[in-house]
Amino acid sequence: MTDTASQSALQAVRGMNDILPDEAPLWLYLEDTARRVFEQYGYRFLRMPIVEPTPLFVRSIGEATDVVEKEMYTFEDKLSGESLTLRPEATAGIVRASIQHNLTYERPQRVWTHGPMFRHERPQKGRYRQFHQLDVEALGFAGPEVDAEQIVLLARLWKALGLESCVTLKINSIGDPTDRHAYREALTTYFSQHFDILDDDSKRRLSTNPLRILDSKNPAMQPLIENAPRMLDQLGAEACTHFDGLRKWLDSAGLAYEIDSRLVRGLDYYNRSVFEWVTDRLGAQGTVAGGGRYDGLYESLGGKPTPACGFAAGIERLVLLLRETGQSAATAPLAYLVHQGDAAAALAWQLAETLRDAGHDVALHAGGGSMKSQMKKADAGGARFALILAEDEARDRTVTVKWLRETGREQQTVPIDGLVAWLTAVAV
Ligand code: ATP
Ligand code: MG
Repeated sequence: MTDTASQSALQAVRGMNDILPDEAPLWLYLEDTARRVFEQYGYRFLRMPIVEPTPLFVRSIGEATDVVEKEMYTFEDKLSGESLTLRPEATAGIVRASIQHNLTYERPQRVWTHGPMFRHERPQKGRYRQFHQLDVEALGFAGPEVDAEQIVLLARLWKALGLESCVTLKINSIGDPTDRHAYREALTTYFSQHFDILDDDSKRRLSTNPLRILDSKNPAMQPLIENAPRMLDQLGAEACTHFDGLRKWLDSAGLAYEIDSRLVRGLDYYNRSVFEWVTDRLGAQGTVAGGGRYDGLYESLGGKPTPACGFAAGIERLVLLLRETGQSAATAPLAYLVHQGDAAAALAWQLAETLRDAGHDVALHAGGGSMKSQMKKADAGGARFALILAEDEARDRTVTVKWLRETGREQQTVPIDGLVAWLTAVAV
């Protein structure tokens, strides 16, 4: 190949990021903490494919939403001709899997998952084209106590992560489909009266899906949206009771919240409870978690009527928040094993395995080099001490311990046979 362009270094797709080893510990910390909290509430892990048939998302998220209209990565399977889509969110896939495998046949199910989602958005801080979500769903539960449970579970997660002072809770009810029908008409009348000052998106939505106008991110639209009729004033009796129930459970948990009557979600499948946890620390990308009830979704995907409720939290935004609050989570091996000479190299290899058998984290130097350059690598890798096995030590079956973090601590010699016991004693 002589084409210079084809020889230039390839880059990741715009808006799709590498999570490098220096950043990854915060991700793992977040994911481990979330997993622990979700398990505390009885949610069980599941994993679905990243690619699904396109109609799954069109039918669930809704045709007149940003996600379906302009953000999906859709392509034709070259062999079958089928239209496929990289999942833009997890709920649709979970409900598809639940219907396909009859998951809620015997009893309701609490499940969770995490992983990459794909939306063709304009990349900026907190908004990417491949991003990651934690996703929690309660399938087959009708009462407002599960809506409240998921909100309280998130409050526990924020606390476990030290983020409780950075986020606040907003809730709303968007009613049942019949309530929304009346509301839709009220909104259409209202926005039609102000047609001239609607932006282009909103003009289009006026006929396709006027509720979506409330979700507009355009600041110029906000005053108009502020004064629009409120869904909460149009709730039917059952949706009202459900919303009162949710509030009662949240109150009994001592959780503060704001009722935001403009809160609708970006996806069409929701009904009744919707909620968001927001922060003012990340600029325009302030929603860290959002969710709600979707009692009609099973049926619209061909399943039996199954009430359900769930949420998704954006991992990138939470990692940004963790960083904003000065949190870090570095990982480093306890020991870095340096060696010199063939006999020492063989012994070092064995020794590293023996120490790992005993449960210790040991990085074994690879790639040769002088003692000095090996010691530099030991230090840069963050190990607490270096274990030195040069020719003398190999002959005497000892190692020299050189402390890398505790200044003033004398180096010492430890017999190889006693090293496991010695490490176990210092590792605590
Ligand atoms: P936003 O209003 O910020 O566009 P959304 O309503 O589209 O969010 P959901 O579909 O409810 O978001 O997804 C839940 C969460 O996933 C969001 O609250 C956010 O934390 C995260 N999220 C959504 N889209 C992105 C993205 N493109 N990049 C990073 N995180 C995202
Ligand atoms: Mg969005």
